[in-house]
Amino acid sequence: MTKPVVENAFWQPEAERMPRVELAALQLTRLRAMVARLTANVPFYRDACARAGVTGDNIRSLDDLRRLPFTTKADLRDNYPLGFMAVSRREAVRYHGSSGTTGKPTFVAYTRRDLETWADLCARFLVATGVRPEHTAQVSFGYGLFTGGFGLHYALERIGVGVIPVSSGNSDRQLTILQDMAPEVLISTPSYALKLMEGIQARGIPRGSLGLRFAHFGGEPWTEDMRARIEAGLGILCFNNYGLSEVLGPGVSGECPWRNGMHIAEDHFIVEAINPETLEPAPEGEPGELVFTALTKEAFPLLRYRTRDIATLTRVPCPCGRTLARMGRITGRTDDMLIIRGVNVFPSQIEEALLRVEGTAPHYLIEIARPGALDEATVHVEIRPETFSDSMSEMQALRDRIGRAIQAVTGLGMHIELVGPQTLERFEGKAKRVLDRRKA
Ligand code: ADP
Ligand code: ZN
Repeated sequence: MTKPVVENAFWQPEAERMPRVELAALQLTRLRAMVARLTANVPFYRDACARAGVTGDNIRSLDDLRRLPFTTKADLRDNYPLGFMAVSRREAVRYHGSSGTTGKPTFVAYTRRDLETWADLCARFLVATGVRPEHTAQVSFGYGLFTGGFGLHYALERIGVGVIPVSSGNSDRQLTILQDMAPEVLISTPSYALKLMEGIQARGIPRGSLGLRFAHFGGEPWTEDMRARIEAGLGILCFNNYGLSEVLGPGVSGECPWRNGMHIAEDHFIVEAINPETLEPAPEGEPGELVFTALTKEAFPLLRYRTRDIATLTRVPCPCGRTLARMGRITGRTDDMLIIRGVNVFPSQIEEALLRVEGTAPHYLIEIARPGALDEATVHVEIRPETFSDSMSEMQALRDRIGRAIQAVTGLGMHIELVGPQTLERFEGKAKRVLDRRKA
């Protein structure tokens, strides 16, 4: 996108527009101090850095980052629950956990200063994209171990926004609040916004009659086509933000008014994109697994944390004036990559393909089975009420169009199963779009 969609504004202009030479110097100073602190306080890093021969003192340039050990989710599990904590429990004032979508939850910790940094980093993307003190925000992210609810909550308060902490679930109540309290801002996962959008349409609330103007989505992958659908359906602007509990929670990166990627808080984290097999840096602009090194965190700083999230990075200057690197959309996780007949496919590719086909609803389920020797993929796609037709040939034509769109994006032929409106499951948090029967 080449034009700003809202007026450009800054929350921490010195940090967000810092010349890159200064930024690099700041990162180096912070990295050296961090490595010195972690080798002294965290047994895992004491041992791993000793093996690699790295100390805070012998880091001379940012290139030395590559000598540091990686940290993985498995390392967190091996040191469950708080083996990576770098301060005493006395200094911790909050704990969160990952939702445990892929196993046992992992815990992370925050000091008071960590919470302040976190609020500032979320405030950066909120303010950048139009959120102002006079606004009211409905936070439909879950409040609890999940970082989404509390993370955005304190940032909104810090800006001066009136927060309605409704949390996730109970869509009827959410809709009533949207109507009666008329918040300008919605915070949720994109899939939950879809569910709310359907509720709005079912209640017959006219598009544009709500006070809603902006939505900030994060927590799960979504696509540009999904953005277009929700923006058109609700008459609002939608923005993307990214984060994960092991690194911080939301606020690691977020969009600016140009919406050409998410600016990363590089004054607090060093980001790399690597080839997940060779562990070598991915060429700039090519997709790689994102790896983050904490520079300022006190309670739970990780070195070179492998996120398993795949995205591209660019340091090309952005028209908004922020000097901070941008990451593209997360196109998948190394662990949600499907291998179908030897071809690597991410669920987001299928979403991209089917949202390009007129008449589909943005609800789908990818089912994979191996009835014989070969994998068979079936995509269950909801059609819109107005598209539903008694004509077999029309339905067949729609199926063919979807099949071709998916083939064009993934290179694979898949069975397309059209299902009626409102038949697939809806989600209050992160959506589950894959049913892999090969694992059963
Ligand atoms: P988990 O899902 O592993 O329990 P979290 O609750 O911390 O952990 O969620 C973080 C993950 O959510 C990220 O690693 C990423 O895969 C996904 N995520 C968060 N924000 C976005 C976003 N804007 N786009 C795509 N994926 C996202
Ligand atoms: Zn920008």
